[in-house]
Amino acid sequence: MPAPAPSMGTALLAAIVLVLLLVELVMIPAQAAAWATWLRRSVGYEVNTVFLRLRIYKYLPQLSRTKLLRDMVLIEQQYAAHPYHGPHHAADVVGKCGAMLRRDKAKLRRWMRERVGKGIVGCITERRYALFELAVVLAAAFHDAGHPGLNNGYLQNSQDPRFQAYEYTAERYSEKWFRHEFMQEQTFLNDLPAAEREFVVEVASYAVLKTDMRMHQNVLAMADPEETDPLKRLAALLLHAADLANGADAWSISKLWAQWCHREFHSQGDASKQDHPELTVDTIFDREKANVPASQLYFVEQLVAPTFQALEQCCPATAALGLRGCRANAAQCKAIIEQQAEQQEAMPRLL
Ligand SMILES: [Zn+2]
Repeated sequence: MPAPAPSMGTALLAAIVLVLLLVELVMIPAQAAAWATWLRRSVGYEVNTVFLRLRIYKYLPQLSRTKLLRDMVLIEQQYAAHPYHGPHHAADVVGKCGAMLRRDKAKLRRWMRERVGKGIVGCITERRYALFELAVVLAAAFHDAGHPGLNNGYLQNSQDPRFQAYEYTAERYSEKWFRHEFMQEQTFLNDLPAAEREFVVEVASYAVLKTDMRMHQNVLAMADPEETDPLKRLAALLLHAADLANGADAWSISKLWAQWCHREFHSQGDASKQDHPELTVDTIFDREKANVPASQLYFVEQLVAPTFQALEQCCPATAALGLRGCRANAAQCKAIIEQQAEQQEAMPRLL
């Protein structure tokens, strides 16, 4: 008996399966390449890529790419191999600042024009804007230089002698290192006129000091009674947003950052128990008590999402993208928390 001819439905199903297989064949190498690029990134590679994309070398032709790459090695050497606050975090924040500056360039320039005013000659020329971008990207590169892998609360409570001269804050250490060590060298910035160099150093230093989480609310409100320059306050908001933005990354990457961050927290908890038993270890730092999905949910909903909301006025495209990422990642965290609760409910039945 001859085999029955395949029906129309079967043929359609086979065609769909074939198309899906082809898509998979194309997508897997593309994803692998993206991951390989992401893992290969160094601070210098990332800064140079961002400068090319923002066309900073075009607007500031004095800058030497060779000197920049040399100097970025100095910055990268300041980062220890901490699970989170390592050079990979610096490179990530550089990339995110670059993406933000590029994506919302027109809106950012309009924001500046409205606030800085048209009366100041040259305040928003292409060159001036390139100097602003340079300052933000440079700040991202060194913002956690010398980070000890411990938070400021612990540095303060343990009276860590290494940070005594920096008011027990990692941000003050990074800023002082940049001003008093990095800038004492003949860096790539020396090829700029003194006034422009000063502008870059001032904007970058201010932004780095404001990455201290105790400044979070003020940075979001762009409120600082001691600082009248709106460009500095804008730089601080952009850097702070890029610093927290891994909470809004695609879930496959965001969950890695969450793991690395909590690994560092738990190492701090271990160090605290061993070296300072007199100190209380907060739950989030205690590997025996911490609930990682719950603390990540708090991070995403209470810290990252409001930061992207604050960006709506000057970077609407980035704000929309970030808020979408926050919603998706919050849903992932909630699903894990629910799963944990269901497993716990099932435990008595199993016992
Ligand atoms: Zn950081």
